[in-house]
Amino acid sequence: MKLAIASGKGGTGKTMVAANLAFTLSRAGQVTLIDCDVEEPNLHLFFPKTATITGITVPVPVIDENTCQHCGLCGEFCQYGAITVLSNRVLFFPELCHSCGGCMLVCLNDAIHEEPKRIGTVAISTPLPHLKLISGMLDTGNPHAVPVIRSAKKLAAGNPLVICDSAPGTSCPVVEALDGCDICILVTESTPFGLHDLRLAVDVADRLGIPTGIVINRSDGKDQEIIDFCRVQDLEVMMTIPFDREIAAIQSRGNILCQVQPTWQNEFTGLFMKCRDLCKGIK
Ligand code: SF4
Ligand code: SF4
Repeated sequence: MKLAIASGKGGTGKTMVAANLAFTLSRAGQVTLIDCDVEEPNLHLFFPKTATITGITVPVPVIDENTCQHCGLCGEFCQYGAITVLSNRVLFFPELCHSCGGCMLVCLNDAIHEEPKRIGTVAISTPLPHLKLISGMLDTGNPHAVPVIRSAKKLAAGNPLVICDSAPGTSCPVVEALDGCDICILVTESTPFGLHDLRLAVDVADRLGIPTGIVINRSDGKDQEIIDFCRVQDLEVMMTIPFDREIAAIQSRGNILCQVQPTWQNEFTGLFMKCRDLCKGIK
């Protein structure tokens, strides 16, 4: 089972939910937790442990100016504007390149070959006996989060229970994190911004055909608007975490709520059971 934890809005406590769910489930069996928030990964703060780090590369075109006839075909082909062909040279903008390989295919003069370019890393650790943590991290200034997320997810292939902690929002990295998941938990908070961004996130999961459940975090008891929205959308509010000073303090110290207050393990086990039931109901 592959489970994605996402949120329309940043700062809703998505990573806290992912960390506690992974901690709780790893007490009963093997869990692989993937940090897909590759621009700002922070799950390792909850699970500090020495990791094995591997570089992630993508192929980028290299143009041989001696062979190039400046025909312009590669520039016309590139839909991302990464190549501009002038009368006497070719300009390449690596930050715009999506490594599709098309320019190399259309060049009739074999003037383009590919070389690997590093864009980030994945770190693998085993912070608990039954918990594997895979953290993707994009190199500073690199805009291509998707290949790093894809590489991190590939490393979890074949693992029976995978939890993907997505980036917040609804952009390409979120779509990549959710892709192929059996269920999505959207973490929200009861504010106008929270509801606005939840609507967008629900729409993304819906378009991807992924069944979705809701967790309300930092609830002050005034959740009616979120509850009404969920009822209209036929979404289950699977868990509500109260606004609580002690919970906030535990998190700010980088501790796992379920470890410090073990009664929360029942709540997170219940969340997983609801996810499993939702998956079964859909299949
Ligand atoms: S397609 Fe090949 S020959 Fe034509 S401009 Fe591009 S690199 Fe040069
Ligand atoms: S590999 Fe694709 S995206 Fe990159 S420059 Fe060539 S055509 Fe453009």
